[in-house]
Amino acid sequence: MAKIFCIANQKGGVGKTTTTVNLAAGLAKVGQRVLVVDLDPQGNATMGSGVDKRALPLSVYDVLLETATIAEARQHSEKAGYDVLGANRELAGAEVELVELEHREQRLKAAIAAADADYDFVLIDCPPSLSMLTLNGLCSAHGVVVPMQCEYFALEGLSDLVNTIKQVHANLNPDLQIIGLLRVMFDPRITLQQQVSDQLKAHFGDKVFDTVIPRNVRLAEAPSYGMPGVVFDANAKGAQAFVEFAKEMVRRVGGMR
Ligand code: ADP
Ligand code: MG
Repeated sequence: MAKIFCIANQKGGVGKTTTTVNLAAGLAKVGQRVLVVDLDPQGNATMGSGVDKRALPLSVYDVLLETATIAEARQHSEKAGYDVLGANRELAGAEVELVELEHREQRLKAAIAAADADYDFVLIDCPPSLSMLTLNGLCSAHGVVVPMQCEYFALEGLSDLVNTIKQVHANLNPDLQIIGLLRVMFDPRITLQQQVSDQLKAHFGDKVFDTVIPRNVRLAEAPSYGMPGVVFDANAKGAQAFVEFAKEMVRRVGGMR
């Protein structure tokens, strides 16, 4: 059975997409079969995996509206080493169209269930909001990985997400749990980042992943070459950190049912 995780944080620019594609590439590197589901109409995870969002015959939009299955709509990225269920602008319309439909928050879950046997991991890149799209992600998943920068307002934003996850857990998806908080774009020379990191550990204990992702320009450059940083420059510090993180994920969730 595939382990299904949302990469979520309602803030934009915190490293969700970078985490999704590099965790996926890291998992692929250690032999896991991976599907990335892009739930953001910006399509950054699609492009960053080396799949052209403007040339998608079918996308996650068609899957949510049940006019295509994942098996029909996915693309394989040779470069990245995993499959992609892509997204583009069209997905922005799904928000409105889904409201009219039955089981509107469970549509992705049903679609993933039909492709479950093909994968060890399914990673869902969520948009920066707590919208119907994110809700579809949270209803599909066993857990949430929360990338965050160790900055002053980071903890404040976290409580909204934690509350949403609690509500989804209580009402829609009893499987859902926070797998962990991932410190990203970390710079140990900045005292404030060290302090926030210490606060996070004091507050959330072992829900904070051991692996820390450093700020690393190679990770930021990789999307313009259409590949995850882990593939683009395997020797860069950021790439190595994501491969470590992939191994930590395999260890942590290995015993999950
Ligand atoms: P989100 O998906 O949450 O909006 P992104 O993953 O797109 O965030 O990251 C926002 C920006 O920060 C991007 O330009 C990305 O390349 C850059 N970035 C993300 N992680 C790192 C990192 N560890 N080091 C340097 N730049 C990063
Ligand atoms: Mg993103």
